[in-house]
Amino acid sequence: MPSFERKQNIFTNKDALGESYQPNKIEERDDEIEKYMDALQPVIDGWEPNNIFVYGNTGVGKTAVTDHLLDQLQTDVEAYDDVTLSVIYLNCKTLSSSYQVAVELVNKLRRPGAEISSTGYPQQSVFKKLYQELEALGGTILIVLDEVDAIGDRDDLLYELPRARSQGNLEDAKVGIIGISNDYKFQEQLDPRVQDTLCERELQFPPYDALELANILDSRTDIAIADDSLAEGVTQHCAALAARDSGSARQALDLLRLAGELAENQDADAISTDHVEAARSELERERVEEGMRELTTHGRLTLLAVVSKAAKADTPSRTRAIYDEYASLCKSAANTDDPLKQRSVHNHLSDLHMLGILSKYENRSGSRGNYYSYELDVPFESAVDAMADVLMLDAEIEKIEGLASRHGVL
Ligand code: ADP
Ligand code: MG
Repeated sequence: MPSFERKQNIFTNKDALGESYQPNKIEERDDEIEKYMDALQPVIDGWEPNNIFVYGNTGVGKTAVTDHLLDQLQTDVEAYDDVTLSVIYLNCKTLSSSYQVAVELVNKLRRPGAEISSTGYPQQSVFKKLYQELEALGGTILIVLDEVDAIGDRDDLLYELPRARSQGNLEDAKVGIIGISNDYKFQEQLDPRVQDTLCERELQFPPYDALELANILDSRTDIAIADDSLAEGVTQHCAALAARDSGSARQALDLLRLAGELAENQDADAISTDHVEAARSELERERVEEGMRELTTHGRLTLLAVVSKAAKADTPSRTRAIYDEYASLCKSAANTDDPLKQRSVHNHLSDLHMLGILSKYENRSGSRGNYYSYELDVPFESAVDAMADVLMLDAEIEKIEGLASRHGVL
């Protein structure tokens, strides 16, 4: 029986690179913090809070900054006897409607044992219970709805809650909503009346550039990684990769953590840029796999068509040509029905582009208008590995790999 042995030569505090770690200091967000504080000022002043809408891509510090500022606000508000502040934080990621959000809020406010069930009440009666709980709590209440875009267009609560006071549903409680969204389109699709109230103050968090990411990483490595366990240029490399791709601090931190784990597994003395490169392909493979799990059979076949084109060193490839490849794959694949029309394959290509699996180019072709061409936006090997895991097309994939090595792609 092999035994476990402690390995702590690389990390001094690996948790500090993890998802649940709250940094002591927020770097590089001075402007956003200033605007955010300004929007929160009425709370300290004892007035009704603003509704605030925060948006930006994932990993750009929306949650971290919000946590930080609300902690600070809760501390600072203690100096004023006439304000009592309660903060209710809810992540809506797994909730898909106003109804579910309202039930969660009610249950957060109720004592254990008195929770309501998540089905069986009319929506208005759940809202009413929510108002009762908010009134019972009283004072100033900030409700943070993180990743609120998950509720899609079932957004009644976002209409109701900000109006609760003017509608006479709340008397004493002063409620402010802080909505946080990873998807800027969410706000565009909201009912204009919801937009008006919910987005009283709007804060946009732009992606980080490489320098900003390097600073964020540096302040984190101080805590997380042993001094001599970091080779020259490693944080800069992680920062540059993440900046080029997403501008997400989460991505940069994930890269560094995985690189550290790989170094640790190899009993290396320090994390090198090679470890970062290895971490990058591993994460990319995971991302492709994750994206692919969401795909329908025909979405996968569309991707396989591009992979097959890439194997022949024939990408970027026009939609038309990808379609032909796709149609012939459909014939070889077991248990698939007829090929989709070209238009639908078009849509699949667009989706794959949105998922970051394909890159898309627009080409001008004079009088006949524009056309698109696509190629893989992830390493060929990652795509093939991911396909092999989810798609039962072993023979096809073997053929493609054969082609790829003949064309020097693999
Ligand atoms: P978002 O909510 O926008 O998706 P997060 O706030 O969760 O992003 O940030 C992702 C990760 O990056 C978290 O671990 C967070 O602590 C860290 N992070 C983001 N921005 C900063 C920053 N400006 N300073 C320090 N750490 C940051
Ligand atoms: Mg977040």
